Amino acid sequence: MIIILKETATPEQISELREAMTLRGLIVQDIVGEEKHMMGLAGDTSELSQEGLERYGFVDRVMKVSEPYKLSGRHFHPEDTAVSIAGGSKVGAGSFAVVAGPCSIESEEQILSIARDVKRSGASMLRGGAFKPRSSPYSFQGLGLDGLELLKIAREKTGLPIVTELMSSEYLSEFERDVDVIQIGARNMQNFSLLRDVGRLGKPVLLKRGPSSTIEELLMAADYILHGGKSSVILCERGIRTFETATRNTLDLSAVPVLKKKSHLPVLVDPSHGTGYWDLVFPMALASVAAGADGLIIEVHDRPEFALCDGQQSITPVLFDKLMRNISAVRDAVKN
Ligand code: PEP
Ligand code: MN
Repeated sequence: MIIILKETATPEQISELREAMTLRGLIVQDIVGEEKHMMGLAGDTSELSQEGLERYGFVDRVMKVSEPYKLSGRHFHPEDTAVSIAGGSKVGAGSFAVVAGPCSIESEEQILSIARDVKRSGASMLRGGAFKPRSSPYSFQGLGLDGLELLKIAREKTGLPIVTELMSSEYLSEFERDVDVIQIGARNMQNFSLLRDVGRLGKPVLLKRGPSSTIEELLMAADYILHGGKSSVILCERGIRTFETATRNTLDLSAVPVLKKKSHLPVLVDPSHGTGYWDLVFPMALASVAAGADGLIIEVHDRPEFALCDGQQSITPVLFDKLMRNISAVRDAVKN
């Protein structure tokens, strides 16, 4: 961190500040230019507030030179992380994963049929919401714990690990016992108590980017989970809110290489929520692969027109199968 002092700062004020910083255990290095006096601070400045320092009348500006996230950043962990999934597969560090399934679990027949289809096409995990975060309280809210039971049946019959969203800590123990990858939805990305709670479980967590969150905020949210010391994190770009109305969200594909540069964690892309339209899923899924994503999460429904949630953005098993074949081709092209 660098503190730039005003030209009017007196020697007494400068030594008062130096002493205060030294007392915090920081190493203070003065940089005295012709016009400006600056103070470089080395050590753990995470507890130091930029705004607080700027309240000293003789401080002009404060500049942070290190990132506010640590555990998810590459600085202390340069190599890519591969997250291990129950059943033996991995995501990240060269392992590609496709999570596919309906937005919501609707019935045993529905989830089983879709699970079998996506498995046949090569999906590595099954998704399906049991607890749904809906904008309207009048919309279908999911089957709750009954839905989780149906998802478990689909896992048993297909061998696919299951990914589903936890909306509150109320069902922490059920999710710990039954779910292979716990999804934290976009709307809960900054539910810090929920993040801390899942961080203590020792499970992979699929953390979706908040619709209005910056990349830095996403990585700080990942740090909340990693701080628990047990769970691993898979990041997910799922589109952000912009002025554009032609798509449901604006899929921020540049977030993929940016995240890969800043973080060692695997990055998935969700082109279903990212675009909101089934016919945009195919091209944006391929673009995500070309951008360097470690995997995809895709909504698939066998009868999208009857889906209880997000039918407009769900692709059919037939299109999903075609997509999977094209993903392999793009991955090979990017590798070569
Ligand atoms: C979902 O994946 O079902 C979902 C609700 O996504 P998001 O949290 O990204 O809106
Ligand atoms: Mn959905």
